[in-house]
Amino acid sequence: MAQGKIIKVAGSLIVAEGMSSARMFDVVRVSKHRLIGEILELRGDQASIQVYEETSGLGPGEPVESTGAPLSLELGPGLIESIFDGIQRPLNRIRERAGDRITRGIEESALNREREWDFVPQVQAGDEVRHGDILGSVQETAVVSHKIMLPKGLDGTVKSIHQGNARVTDTICVVEGKDGKEHQVTMMQRWPVRTGRPYQEKLSPKNPMITGQRVIDTLFPIASGGVAAIPGPFGSGKTVVQHQLAKWAEADIIVYVGCGERGNEMTDVLKEFPELHDPRTGETLMKRTVLIANTSDMPVAAREASIYTGITIAEYFRDMGYSVAIMADSTSRWAEALREMSGRLEEMPGEEGYPAYLSSRIAEFYERAGQVICLGSDGRRGAISAIGAVSPPGGDISEPVSQATLRIVKVFWGLSAQLAYRRHFPAIDWLLSYSLYSDNLAEWFTDHVSPEWNELRLKTMTILQDESELEEIVRLVGTDALGWRDRLTMEVARSIREDYLHQNAFDEIDTYTSLTKQYRMLRLILDFAEKGQQALDSGANLSEVINLPVRERIGRAKYIPEDNLAMFDDIESELATQANALINRGGL
Ligand code: ADP
Repeated sequence: MAQGKIIKVAGSLIVAEGMSSARMFDVVRVSKHRLIGEILELRGDQASIQVYEETSGLGPGEPVESTGAPLSLELGPGLIESIFDGIQRPLNRIRERAGDRITRGIEESALNREREWDFVPQVQAGDEVRHGDILGSVQETAVVSHKIMLPKGLDGTVKSIHQGNARVTDTICVVEGKDGKEHQVTMMQRWPVRTGRPYQEKLSPKNPMITGQRVIDTLFPIASGGVAAIPGPFGSGKTVVQHQLAKWAEADIIVYVGCGERGNEMTDVLKEFPELHDPRTGETLMKRTVLIANTSDMPVAAREASIYTGITIAEYFRDMGYSVAIMADSTSRWAEALREMSGRLEEMPGEEGYPAYLSSRIAEFYERAGQVICLGSDGRRGAISAIGAVSPPGGDISEPVSQATLRIVKVFWGLSAQLAYRRHFPAIDWLLSYSLYSDNLAEWFTDHVSPEWNELRLKTMTILQDESELEEIVRLVGTDALGWRDRLTMEVARSIREDYLHQNAFDEIDTYTSLTKQYRMLRLILDFAEKGQQALDSGANLSEVINLPVRERIGRAKYIPEDNLAMFDDIESELATQANALINRGGL
């Protein structure tokens, strides 16, 4: 193990000599405080080290000791409900012990060593097992069953298996490996954060991650295992969108990585998230959540590490066969940390001072998402869907972080400050946003919702685009320039916006809409559009069409409870009756 000495301190970057036997990315302990650091660069016997803790007071001559291992996480029961910092220090347990600020060099294991878990085995002595196989499980929280998997690289025969209470470091299984040796398996395993966890096969995403948010599911769906970006101008409703996704998205586990701009921003998350109620289970959302939090008073280096910590934890739960949603908020703050570290290393700066490898780092993060066949003999599947928030300065997405992100992600939910100002929520701009999964998912929607779905979706998009062109004409020459058909199109577009896309997160019913209900709602509006045009064609007046009494019921359809969707039949027939009256009158 390398034992060196500090020769230079520059903020959270230090340089040490005598490190020739160390390796890149090894974790080191710095000074008598034993601060945690990671080797970023090795030149001869000099190592540049990023320190994850406050470095004030450090000086040349103090010892630096390599641990011989890369930055790794502890994975096992106890992750759920935890709040970690960027290098997996357990903030909630540290706070209990040391108060609000993290004391330097504090050593608190990521997973609680004392707590006992009731291990229920799933294999027995004599069974042949392969790495990735599930040995058993513990009920980690009321809603999460934590699968204990045989770690990578170990195949063999079970010699003995434990049942009942055990701590994460106790042996729960002894496996005789192919090497003839006996291996003690504990519930806890370690994994280096900068290396993706292995799987058998990555699958191309074919099914959506349903969110119950109409603008997302209908117009800009994300695949299960997909990647999306969401920019968040201040006050545009980003927090509410994220909370809605965390609560309602079809995911078993939520990993939320917060890189706050200001200290209090993160404190809000730490306060709000644990208070969120989980509509699926009736418990708090924390019962299936892991939070990674970086406040601005923590060193930038820990912020840089945090998204790797988050995605590694997400991969670990994916490997159990779960569907995981990871949200990183915001990747812009993370990129700034990267820029700062790169500057201190005196690397050649690229665009706007970001290092040249910015894009590849962003890509490496999102590429760890996806739907996979997990390791293990049972062929189980898991998925990670990743949603990254970007917060470009001044909301200008032409800057490098937004651009690098947009080149990788397949869904863009463009939040618009203007829509938020008009109180149209969720303020996802339908003209700006896109989903490149729509084609891949079309078949799924046809099979699971309706053969009409894709056509309805396209029609909706077309009407919204037509509206924006018609608005331009109105702006130039006034409403009088439009024919009745166009005016009806504008009216239908208004209905799509107000009766469909607008969705109140705080209304008990409106907060979530199943796909079946989305389909019924959309069909109703587009039925009106079609019948309205027919009525116009047969001589009805625009105002007669617009003022059909049934329209009020169409406008309130969003409040129809999920268990009463038969109500839609009723509204449809009322629409048919009223519209046909106009059409037939014209025809006579
Ligand atoms: P940001 O995080 O972008 O600053 P918030 O998510 O806190 O913004 O949203 C600001 C306010 O907008 C909320 O307090 C709420 O009143 C309103 N809002 C946002 N989204 C919705 C929604 N889907 N339904 C109803 N109100 C919303």
